[in-house]
Amino acid sequence: MKKLFIIANWKSNKKELEVKEWIDKFKNYDLRFKNKEIIICPSFIHLPLLKSYILDHESIRLGAQDISKFDEGAYTGEVNGKQIREFAEYVIIGHSERRQNFSENEEVVNQKIKQAIKFGLKPILCVQDQNFKIQEKVEIIAYEPVFAIGTNNPDTPENADLVSTKIKENNLSNYIIYGGSVNSKNVNQFTQKPNIDGVLVGNASLDPLEFFEIIKNA
Ligand code: PEP
Repeated sequence: MKKLFIIANWKSNKKELEVKEWIDKFKNYDLRFKNKEIIICPSFIHLPLLKSYILDHESIRLGAQDISKFDEGAYTGEVNGKQIREFAEYVIIGHSERRQNFSENEEVVNQKIKQAIKFGLKPILCVQDQNFKIQEKVEIIAYEPVFAIGTNNPDTPENADLVSTKIKENNLSNYIIYGGSVNSKNVNQFTQKPNIDGVLVGNASLDPLEFFEIIKNA
């Protein structure tokens, strides 16, 4: 049985009370899946709360949604790798929403990957196709075509597998996952493909039952 990563990207959603409500529901579900690693990526401010919850759960890990390209110091508003490492193991880098809204280019993405690695964080690098250049080996690469993000219009599992295969051929990363309008009904069409090692889930991860169904059906 291959290892699968099921990653929740909550983006800029949820107040503290809503995070507590999500946890209260999610903790009732049986998460003993031997081959599935669940990674929850909330806003920075909710990492401590989620950390106290996941202590009881072997199969759940935490991730940040971004990282400063700088070390600690005079960078107002930034959260650096050293700070993130206290709470999380993973970090999403290069999400298309950051590339579009915050002008992140390849250079910035590469700087962030370097910072993550420097502080022992595992990058989840988001790419839109197979044509990208990175200087380091990253833990997970997420193929996320922009047309599929938040649109209910996923890529076809066949094409997602084809792109994942090309990415695997050209990179040292062990795991390639798919992201873009994944839900509990379509998830296994992606995860059953030979070169797709999991999914990155945005909207559908905001609801604890739907996210659990995604994990179960993957
Ligand atoms: C994402 O933002 O990484 C994503 C995959 O979003 P959604 O699942 O909502 O398409």
